[in-house]
Amino acid sequence: MEIVGTVIELREKIQVWKKQGQKIGFVPTMGYLHEGHLSLVRESKKRSNLTVVSIFVNPMQFGPAEDYKVYPRDLERDRALLEREGVDLVFYPPVEVMYPEGYKTYVEVEDLQDKLCGKSRPGHFRGVCTVVLKLFNLVQPDEAYFGWKDAQQVIILQKMVEDLNLPVKIVALPLVRDHDGLALSSRNTYLSPEERRAALVLKKSLDLAEKLIIEGEREARKIRQKMIELISAEPLARIDYVEIVDLKTLEPLETIGDQALIALAVFIGRTRLIDNLRIISGGIEK
Ligand code: AMP
Repeated sequence: MEIVGTVIELREKIQVWKKQGQKIGFVPTMGYLHEGHLSLVRESKKRSNLTVVSIFVNPMQFGPAEDYKVYPRDLERDRALLEREGVDLVFYPPVEVMYPEGYKTYVEVEDLQDKLCGKSRPGHFRGVCTVVLKLFNLVQPDEAYFGWKDAQQVIILQKMVEDLNLPVKIVALPLVRDHDGLALSSRNTYLSPEERRAALVLKKSLDLAEKLIIEGEREARKIRQKMIELISAEPLARIDYVEIVDLKTLEPLETIGDQALIALAVFIGRTRLIDNLRIISGGIEK
């Protein structure tokens, strides 16, 4: 497994593979890898001839008061994990390779970028879309793998690919959870043991929503209210948002029909965590 950090080295590799007609699978990450990331890598290994993983903590998607500086990083650990999975190439660029001085071009997916996480993280999805388009142009993957953990990200990137006619297929894969149900996230390392326990309230609120839906409740307002009550009873939790929206437009739903996204963001202490469940063709995926 090779690790490259420059555009020239990456392009050389990709050009050879493209000439050979290899099917390239790509997993973009910010590193500090866990089983969620590795599930994407394994799917790429299954479906593609060659797997490229990028590790880049993208400053453009962090707000000025957010955790860019302290975001966990451990290249040696990530390298060992990816080597074990049989990854072919890791792209690990320094910031100046992605954004040289005088960088001026950005990608925005209007409306969708302003909802849910976009409301409390202005500029976040502009940063995500910009870096992902750059990475797609560099890696030229046939397929790129993303987790439903970041549901809004998947929906926005699918729209970007559609609107810009990008020759890449977005493959979205299930959210991977810890043994007790907490959604795996690199940010879970910020949690104290007490906060780690309190963080279970996100999954519990989704379990409650699921139960209500199975019992026949369809009114979004009522489900949302019950979720908010449950989360508010946890002293360490502060709700950023709890929303029930259309899976494509991210517009709030009054009634749950055959598709919906129930998404939430909650601060546990100073750590902002997200989770979601999706209703697709009447069934529940979480
Ligand atoms: P990140 O390193 O947080 O930018 O995540 C890189 C990719 O891994 C994104 O497509 C995420 O949605 C995905 N991912 C992160 N956590 C999980 C998880 N718990 N389950 C599935 N995919 C995940």
